[in-house]
Amino acid sequence: MAEVTGRQARPPGLADLRQTPEPLLSELSVADRPGLDLPRPDVPAAPLPPAALLRDSLPLPRLSEPEVVRHFTRLSQRNYAIDTVFYPLGSCTMKYNPKLNDELARLPGFAGLHPYQPEETVQGALALLAALEAALAELTGYGAVSLQPAAGAHGELTGLLIIRAHHRARGEAHRRRVLVPDSAHGTNPASAAMVGYETVTLRSDERGNVDLRALEAALGPDVAGLMITAPSTLGLFDEHMLAITEAVHAAGGLVYGDGANMNALLGVAKPAQLGIDVLHMNLHKTFSTPHGGGGPGAGALAVTAALEPYLPVPVVRRAGDRYALDYQRPQSIGPVRAFGGHFGVLVRAYAYIRRLGADGLRAVSEAAVLNANYLRVLLQEWYDVAYERPCMHEVVLSGRRQKARGVRTLDIAKRLIDYGFHPPTIYFPLVVDEALMIEPTETETKATLDAFVAAMAAIAREASDQPELLRAAPHATPVRRLDEATAARQPVLRWATPGRGHGETGA
Ligand SMILES: *Cc1c(COP(=O)(O)O)cnc(C)c1O
Repeated sequence: MAEVTGRQARPPGLADLRQTPEPLLSELSVADRPGLDLPRPDVPAAPLPPAALLRDSLPLPRLSEPEVVRHFTRLSQRNYAIDTVFYPLGSCTMKYNPKLNDELARLPGFAGLHPYQPEETVQGALALLAALEAALAELTGYGAVSLQPAAGAHGELTGLLIIRAHHRARGEAHRRRVLVPDSAHGTNPASAAMVGYETVTLRSDERGNVDLRALEAALGPDVAGLMITAPSTLGLFDEHMLAITEAVHAAGGLVYGDGANMNALLGVAKPAQLGIDVLHMNLHKTFSTPHGGGGPGAGALAVTAALEPYLPVPVVRRAGDRYALDYQRPQSIGPVRAFGGHFGVLVRAYAYIRRLGADGLRAVSEAAVLNANYLRVLLQEWYDVAYERPCMHEVVLSGRRQKARGVRTLDIAKRLIDYGFHPPTIYFPLVVDEALMIEPTETETKATLDAFVAAMAAIAREASDQPELLRAAPHATPVRRLDEATAARQPVLRWATPGRGHGETGA
């Protein structure tokens, strides 16, 4: 395997650029430099607002157009992005999203729609929603799908409201506990708490499965259901999935499936057949929407036929050769947001599914699982693997070997930045000591995976020979270790500090 030394794995040209701090636009400004020269207007001047509302001066930086373009283009390259580097952030499915799907979402007939348009003018959009619902229902094995939730966690909230409505309709409102394995995503217990449920944590066993004895002990007549992340955040498929769902059903509960990451299951397994009653999928992870910046998303929710009456309104209904939005659903939990969902995300998902087809979607899963296992096998020479068995679309390592030498997982993650890779998810899942959660996704080549392994191997060697180097990483960035906790609690939102340059300051 090729040795990676220094910053060899960085894209050429970017390394040096990243090391110098970017000046503020106001610092680049030259007082008499013309920026944009507008022609003299040949129309009458519009009346100005009252003088009290006008500024005396507007001290904008003065730069030429190419200077401005270069400034913002350089700034944009400071960010790690899936379009520039490998981005193995576990649980986030940072895969490459085909640009074609963006282009289709931008078609004027889709992008220019207004949610208050009369139904007869949006028949094509409604047809797309109905077809996407049908495709997702087919992929997952469910009777009905809602495209309304705006994110994964929102899908969880919606699904739990449906579970609560189901129990209430059966006169079982006393069911108030929700069981959540310790390998579930962190949003699961939070969503249960938002619905007013009390959550009970179930421990994992030594193979990373839900501990069946703990499950049996926790089940009872007051249990509303179980929320299981499938595959779990340990990157594992629970070996007793059917036993788990049967036990919950036998106790009168329902099973919620967190299917945010469908990358391992597409075309391979239908969650409905595993006994999961309600499932959300993050269309912005598995189904082709770029989401590194935090949105918009879509948490499509699939439910069994028995739960269909509770779905949020409106639902898209076909009446003859027309589509209509149906609000007349007395058992519905009501709308969970304004209008129909993030339509552009839904267009991308539909385009992705139609372009790949059934065989293509299965190939996505096979490659995602193969890539994760390839990394698992190669990396275990250098790092402990949390659970020594085949993984699904992601693999969880433990940095405990390195911790024994005084190097923490945080140091390893920071050092990876020097090697030109976005770090994996770290310290999650919580049940793994010094966790590194790596999700390569199906869109990476063997060459990229090999370069990543070489970097991880080099870092493991550095952890033995030069631990100080790692503890001070990153070395190749304009800023080093940031105080992330303070940055989040006391954010500095001004674009220029007072007295620096001549830019305006303000939040
Ligand atoms: C990302 C993720 C979520 C939350 O999705 P959001 O869209 O960020 O709300 C929930 N569960 C799992 C397993 C996830 O990976």
